[in-house]
Amino acid sequence: MRSAFRSPTALLDFLGLDNRALTTPTRGSFGLLVPETFARRMRPGDPQDPLLRQVLPDPDEIVSRPGFDRDPVGDLASLSAPAILHKYQGRALLMLTGACAVHCRYCFRQHFPYSGETASGERWAAACRYLAQDESIDEVIFSGGDPLMLSTDRLAAITADLGAIGHIRRLRIHTRMPVILPDRVNPSLLRWLDELPWPVILVIHANHPAEFDREVDTALDRLKTAGVHLLNQAVLLRGINDRPETLKQLMERGFTAGVLPYYLHQLDRVAGSARFEVDQAQARTLIEHLRASLPGYLVPRLVVEQAGQPSKTPLVDHAAKAEMLLP
Ligand SMILES: *Cc1c(COP(=O)(O)O)cnc(C)c1O
Ligand code: SF4
Repeated sequence: MRSAFRSPTALLDFLGLDNRALTTPTRGSFGLLVPETFARRMRPGDPQDPLLRQVLPDPDEIVSRPGFDRDPVGDLASLSAPAILHKYQGRALLMLTGACAVHCRYCFRQHFPYSGETASGERWAAACRYLAQDESIDEVIFSGGDPLMLSTDRLAAITADLGAIGHIRRLRIHTRMPVILPDRVNPSLLRWLDELPWPVILVIHANHPAEFDREVDTALDRLKTAGVHLLNQAVLLRGINDRPETLKQLMERGFTAGVLPYYLHQLDRVAGSARFEVDQAQARTLIEHLRASLPGYLVPRLVVEQAGQPSKTPLVDHAAKAEMLLP
């Protein structure tokens, strides 16, 4: 992390790109951040590189767009206890930190006021009390930010506290770390995972097949060997993965690395992300292409998050389609 790129100029220099025309605004808390491990997978000399476009700030970000706001999925209204989002039956999401190893320009939590809402000290004690008093919660989701930004010791202290809550049966970790900084999957992390008392589901986040390389494969392989279930969630992004062939390759490349697709998210309309939006009709068409060319288990669930709904909302309505086919 210490050697990560933190300025667009330095990253563009590294890629051999002209940075004289650069007019990117730098936003204090969410400026460019990308580790060299990830930057090395970008194609030198290509300003349209799909990995570069995910992380390079753009002047359009500070233009206000109708329908795009700072809390697009109503997270602030659904904080159940400090650092806990409990929107859905049975699973509670813990925002363990606001920090990430990379800043994705389309991130729906990029404006979230984390400092007051991460799990530490008295806030963590309160979060634990909330989880303990609601016996319907059988799955805890570590999220953020990126939960693997915490030290393994800190993670182990958190899971030790959770171990005292008898009704928790599964642990899920939402993290981009195995893709962005595969070295984070180190022996101490693997030992921690291996010794947890629950089945662990680790949901990575890769949007493009070029995000995988040998180091990522190795990290994922080690996670699998530690008994972790691996899934991928991606965000549908204009100019990055909005072609059927790219998505197909993403699913196939993930499978090669031992990862099954989970969600393909329609962009959350967060302020600053308008340039990435793919319209819903095109999104549905893309999924139909995937369904026609991949085995069912490699077709992700296309969903959109709507504030106030009891789950993510599927964008392809199988039920309605099936009904139409009935005699
Ligand atoms: C997306 C999300 C989950 C996980 O939902 P699944 O459909 O189980 O993957 C849980 N809590 C919150 C607040 C979420 O946004
Ligand atoms: S890694 Fe995830 S939480 Fe962090 S900036 Fe990217 S999308 Fe947002």
